[in-house]
Amino acid sequence: MKPIEICTVGGYNEVGRNMTAINVDGESVICDIGFNVQKVVEYQEECKTQEAYTKELLMSIDAVPNINKIKSWIPNTKAILASHCHLDHIGGIQYLARDFKAPIVSTPFTMSVIDNQMRSDAIKLPNKQVRIKPNDTFEASKNIKIEFIDIPHSTLQTSLLAMHTPQGIILYATDWKFDNTPVIGKKPDYKRLKELGSLGVKALVIDSLYSKEDIKTPSESIARDLLKDVLLETANQDSAIVTSCFASHIARLKSIIEFGNKINRKVIILGRSFGKYIEAAEQANLTKLSDQAEILTYRSAINRKLVEINKKGPENYIIVCTGGQGETNSVLSRMVRGETKFKFYSGDQVIFSNRLIPVEPNLTNRAGMETQLKDLGVRIFKDVHVSGHCAKEDIREMIQLTNPENIIPCHGFDKLMQPACNLGIEMGYKMDRDLHLMRNGEKIIIE
Ligand SMILES: [Zn+2]
Ligand SMILES: [Zn+2]
Repeated sequence: MKPIEICTVGGYNEVGRNMTAINVDGESVICDIGFNVQKVVEYQEECKTQEAYTKELLMSIDAVPNINKIKSWIPNTKAILASHCHLDHIGGIQYLARDFKAPIVSTPFTMSVIDNQMRSDAIKLPNKQVRIKPNDTFEASKNIKIEFIDIPHSTLQTSLLAMHTPQGIILYATDWKFDNTPVIGKKPDYKRLKELGSLGVKALVIDSLYSKEDIKTPSESIARDLLKDVLLETANQDSAIVTSCFASHIARLKSIIEFGNKINRKVIILGRSFGKYIEAAEQANLTKLSDQAEILTYRSAINRKLVEINKKGPENYIIVCTGGQGETNSVLSRMVRGETKFKFYSGDQVIFSNRLIPVEPNLTNRAGMETQLKDLGVRIFKDVHVSGHCAKEDIREMIQLTNPENIIPCHGFDKLMQPACNLGIEMGYKMDRDLHLMRNGEKIIIE
């Protein structure tokens, strides 16, 4: 039997287009095929074109992982696994999965998001879709079984992927945190993680995005308290409240709706992306939001609703929309620029219930948006948010629990992953012996 080989295909030189491939004695499984939206935006700005996205174009501009790096593994790939529904993990599936004659496997919510996205982009794939309940196991082949271990993150039904092979376990642990009081879903199964450690984890691929932060990431219930304080105690109740959050953050939406009910404001959710994730959550029977909030997805309907809100009095509503990154085509940006019938007045409030991802053009766009809001006399509440990613002390705990033979940091470039390496060294690992700082397209043999 040949030793296990891991190829860090994408997401190791950047934040985005995550993909890791694992080869077990000639058979492969793929963990995530992500998309880097930023690359597409840059390309569009440079070329001023809106041409159709083909696999070749997207690979050439580094928007999706370069699967040529695992060309010889493609014919014998047994499964494409999706850890969760964020675009940097699933966005490339609809462009690249066709090359693999393998099923796409994920939790029901994640599969619904993938499926809804493909439907809206009119993409049909020949790959079979397999829905795996959280904590269930998928048998990819006689030698490879994948356990989908449920774990909290900033969206629903996120999984750590534990690949059970005759040579031991490979644990793919991207995008998670040890949240003991999540707003939706269960707390982490520490017992199971410890069991994996006893069974023998050959390699741990671990989320290092915030490994430089000397904290344990706070629970989503803390974000809920921050929101509660602003909405119930601090906000002017006779003025407008506009809140932006990530569309996939269903737990956050749930909190906003509950507090809206408490202050007798009707929650109006604006934007197509919200509709997509809420629909998936309801398809997977995880929560029902559409009977407590009004969701409008098309621009004409959004504009009509904003006219109605103006007429009936904005103090009767909480408007939820995207735009927290200052995206120029978001509903919030259009409202701020006065391109809708909504008018901001002095004393109105905008709550940013998200983190500004500190890259261009976000920084410039958000700063511009904030200046315009301040000029109008709008109160801004920033960072009413906690992250869904593990920080240094979560990572330490994960390493202690699972006791891996090898550690491979993921989800970033060198500067982001280096602190995870430093932590590994502190815990007795050694660079290039059992601690590996990998880059896109590199392969490593796990002896
Ligand atoms: Zn991610
Ligand atoms: Zn994520």
